[in-house]
Amino acid sequence: MNTIKIAIDGYAGTGKSTTARMVAKKLDYTYIDTGAMYRAVTLYFLDHNIPFEELNEQLIGALADIRLNFKPNENGDLCMFLNGKNVANEIRHPRISAHVSPVAVHGPVREKLVNEQRIMGKEGGIVMDGRDIGTVVFPDAELKIFMTASMDVRAARRQAELEAKGNIMSLEAIRDNLAERDHIDANRAIAPLKKAADAVVIDTSEMTFEDQVSLVCKMVENKLKQLSS
Ligand code: C5P
Repeated sequence: MNTIKIAIDGYAGTGKSTTARMVAKKLDYTYIDTGAMYRAVTLYFLDHNIPFEELNEQLIGALADIRLNFKPNENGDLCMFLNGKNVANEIRHPRISAHVSPVAVHGPVREKLVNEQRIMGKEGGIVMDGRDIGTVVFPDAELKIFMTASMDVRAARRQAELEAKGNIMSLEAIRDNLAERDHIDANRAIAPLKKAADAVVIDTSEMTFEDQVSLVCKMVENKLKQLSS
């Protein structure tokens, strides 16, 4: 076996996506950002005035009209396309972050996205990040990582990412959003955010981005050796 499934779960803003993207690039694996899929569904609901506070028929019906794809942009980076439109930047906006967790609690939303994620990852050679990858989407993933970091570090990193995209938000507002999302994600009835029993915890509070990437690459190397011996 020379390609595996790598599941990276963890709290909001712990560096999952940036690490997963770079690890995939280094290994020549496919990176799948499942948070982007929940964000794109949220964007669709907001733009089409679909109520999502409670599960309802309109929401369930709307899911059939949502087509999600990851496609490369002109720089070769995989971007989230919603019904044919590149929404990679739009889904990072604070208005989406404010509503995505209440959308992600609904069973029919999760069912649609989990099915699509399983199809995308079935051949292996993937790095998938999210909240339920090691527990629900790919409980058979060969390598499972659970990322965490202190709230101060997470909020400061998120603020810098948002600023780079022209969104100015106070540290306090960012902390509130991260804490609220973690709370909803960890306490929902379906596929709550939790560490898989066989996941390795990485606390990124004191780590640079390069440290995180090389640690995960080392873990992959070890896993591949172990599987081939
Ligand atoms: O990864 P990101 O922070 O962009 O995810 C946004 C939100 O999408 C999470 O806070 C969570 O509510 C939801 N999500 C989820 N399951 C996943 C990935 C994301 O519920 N696998």
